[in-house]
Amino acid sequence: MALIVQKYGGTSVGTVERIEAVADRVAAAYHSGDDVLVVVSAMSGETNRLVGLAQAISENPLPRELDVLLSTGEQVTMALLCMALEKAGCSARSYTGGQVKILTDSAHNKARIKEIDGHRVKADLEQRNVVVVAGFQGVDEAGNITTLGRGGSDTTAVALAAALNAEECQIYTDVDGVYTTDPRVEPKARRLNQITFEEMLEMASLGSKVLQIRAVEFAGKYNVPLRVLSSFKEGKGTLITFEEESMEQAKISGIAFNRDEAKLTILGVPDQPGIAYKILGPIANANIEVDMIVQNMGADGSTTDFTFTVHRNDFKRAKVQLELTAKALGARQVAGDNEIVKISLVGVGMRSHAGIASTMFETLAKENINIRMISTSEIKISVVVDERYLELGVRSLHEAFELEKKPNSKA
Ligand code: ASP
Ligand code: MG
Repeated sequence: MALIVQKYGGTSVGTVERIEAVADRVAAAYHSGDDVLVVVSAMSGETNRLVGLAQAISENPLPRELDVLLSTGEQVTMALLCMALEKAGCSARSYTGGQVKILTDSAHNKARIKEIDGHRVKADLEQRNVVVVAGFQGVDEAGNITTLGRGGSDTTAVALAAALNAEECQIYTDVDGVYTTDPRVEPKARRLNQITFEEMLEMASLGSKVLQIRAVEFAGKYNVPLRVLSSFKEGKGTLITFEEESMEQAKISGIAFNRDEAKLTILGVPDQPGIAYKILGPIANANIEVDMIVQNMGADGSTTDFTFTVHRNDFKRAKVQLELTAKALGARQVAGDNEIVKISLVGVGMRSHAGIASTMFETLAKENINIRMISTSEIKISVVVDERYLELGVRSLHEAFELEKKPNSKA
């Protein structure tokens, strides 16, 4: 018998009526003959409410007690869902993370799963019970309650699917799948039937926040087929899976973008060994993450310019630091721009198709969009452009790569 893991996010279980609708959906899968394990989030807004209560008492609540508090959100949902399932004609039993025995390390508020002892849950499934597990939580070696970080229920679901060898892990959310790009920017964006783990990781890290990144990594590592679907709308959603040789791949799967970018340039620094380290070392020490880096050829052979991007929130801090570095190195000037965005084409098809980059540059050139920086990887080409060109850039690329059309695939 196939085991399906279904995970329902906060909006999907946001009210009693919605919990009852989830119960109907779970019951349908159960009555079709599958074994079903459900992972639930806290009702929407609940985790934030609990954080607020803690912060009303202390700016820095004790991490151990914060986990005790936050884990209650999911516990409420799991009990209510079991009651609704009973009403829908399924016998159901709920478990907290600790009761399943989802063993984690002791890093409160951001714990990592180490091991899952699934024997109680398995026994229940064998008796044809629906098992409902509270997402986002576990227990450490000493028996303390831990939580996995915001959005952690996705990871709970994937980890359980891996541990119990589920046929599929279905993530039910308020969007009906992964799209070629954000439909708010390009209304012609199309839902993808299928995307690879690698592509999904690129899309997710670039700001397509459908899934917790860690959950995608986990699913890729343990080869758990993952499907994103809507709990409000019928449909097959998007399957996230491994690349299949037989699959006729679209060249490009999607266009991701990130508005949270800023860039900094230090001009006229001595062109010597160790210069990148002298510039970026202090930035790293200030805990500022650097994304793209470009060092120019020195024009006169003795000095060079060096540009990098950071998160927009870190722009001011990074600039202050870079100005200190400029003084110390005798650089000519520091320049910065925090009105830039990054647009990226993502697709495993790039590996086998030439000319993607030139089509991208040609498309942007036709629209008179100036490219400020470029970086590439095996399955991604990113450009930095002025913020005001974000919409135009995304739409013209979507058009140029014909993303609104279905590729000739069997999927
Ligand atoms: N309830 C937790 C949160 O809001 C975990 C989750 O929903 O995945 O982050
Ligand atoms: Mg979530």
